Amino acid sequence: MKRAYNFSAGPAVLPVPVLEQVQKELISYKGSGMSVMELSHRSALFEEIISEAESLIRDLMKIPNNYKVLFLQGGASLQFSAVPMNLALGKKASFVNTGSWSKKAISEAKKLSNVEVEVIASSEDKNFSYIPEIPTVSKDSAYLHITTNNTIEGTTIWHLPETGNVPLVADMSSNILASVYDTQKFGLIYAGAQKNIGPAGLTLVIVREDLIGEADGLPSMLDYQVQANNDSLYNTPPTFAIYVAKLVFEWIRDLGGVEAIEAINRKKAGILYDYLDTSDFFRSPVDPLSRSLTNIPFVTGNSELDTAFVKEAEAKGFVNLKGHRSVGGMRASLYNAFPVEGVEALVTFMDEFARTYKGGEIHV
Ligand code: PMP
Repeated sequence: MKRAYNFSAGPAVLPVPVLEQVQKELISYKGSGMSVMELSHRSALFEEIISEAESLIRDLMKIPNNYKVLFLQGGASLQFSAVPMNLALGKKASFVNTGSWSKKAISEAKKLSNVEVEVIASSEDKNFSYIPEIPTVSKDSAYLHITTNNTIEGTTIWHLPETGNVPLVADMSSNILASVYDTQKFGLIYAGAQKNIGPAGLTLVIVREDLIGEADGLPSMLDYQVQANNDSLYNTPPTFAIYVAKLVFEWIRDLGGVEAIEAINRKKAGILYDYLDTSDFFRSPVDPLSRSLTNIPFVTGNSELDTAFVKEAEAKGFVNLKGHRSVGGMRASLYNAFPVEGVEALVTFMDEFARTYKGGEIHV
C-alpha cells in the first residue's frame, strides 16, 4: 500500500512499524480475544500498557521521580485552563506571547477571575515571525508559561528563559520528543498527543509534585491531584490512544531515543531550509534564529502561486501542505515519523515547480 507524504500539523503521520503492530494486534491483543479498544481500563492487560507507557516516557525524557506523568483528555486546549486553575488561583500567572496558541493560553487564563494574567514579552508586532527577548519574570508569579514550538508560525524558543524559583510551564505540543529538553528545567510540561506522541484524544501532562494539591474545589477531572492519586484512571482514559503512544515510545527508544530523533529532525529540516535559503522562488517568512525543526512555513510571495503549488503537490502525493488559514502560504510539518526521503522528494518537486512557473504566466 502506497503511503502519502503527509505534512499535516496534526493529527499527523505515525511511524509505519507502529501502524503495522497495531494492525497485527488489532483483533486479539496478546491472545485475549479482544482488541485494546475492547479491554477494560481496569484490566491487567491495560494496566500493563499504561504503566509501560509511563516508564517509557520517563526514560525518554529523563523524568525525575518527583514528577507525575498524567495521561489526560481534552487536548492541550483544556490545559490552557487546567494549568492556571491548579497552579495560580489567587496568584499571578506570567506568559510569553509567541503565537496563536500562546494567545489562546493567555485568553483562557484571563477568563479565570481569580488569576492575574501578565504578558512579559510578545512577538505579535511582527506577526509572530520571531522569538522576542524574554525579560526576568517577577518573583511573585506562580509560573511563566511558554510555547516551546509555535506550530502555526514555525518558530521555536531555542533558549529557555532563566526563571529562578518561578516554575517554567511549557506547552510542548508540537515539539515534545522531537528535541532534547531537560525536564528538570520545567515545573510542568503539557502536550496534545496528535503530533509526536500518537492519536488525538490523549494529552500528556508532566508536573512537579510540589506544584499540585494546593487548589481546593476544582472539578475532579481538572484537578491534577485527583488524576495523580488515581494514576490517570479516575475515569475511563483514552485507552487506545495510550496503547498507540506506548508503541510510539518504543519506536523512539529503538531508534536511539530523543537525541537520535533530534539528529534526524535536524537533517530533515536542514534539507528544506537549505533549499529555501538558496531559492529565488520560495522563501521562509521566519527569523532564521527562531526557526522550528518541526513546522516549516514557506511562501512564494504570490497567493495564486501558493494555491497552485498546494494543488499540484497534492496530486503528486504531498498532502496537507497548505499553511494555516491565519497565515496562508505553505507549511511542511516534519514530525518524528515523517521520513527523510519525503523531504528530499518535496524539495525536488519544489524545484520543478519553481522552474515551471518562474517569471511565467500563471493560469489556475
Ligand atoms: N498548543 C499548540 C502549540 C498546538 O500546536 C495545538 C494544536 N495544534 C494546541 C495547543 C491545541 O491542541 P489541542 O487541539 O490538543 O487542544
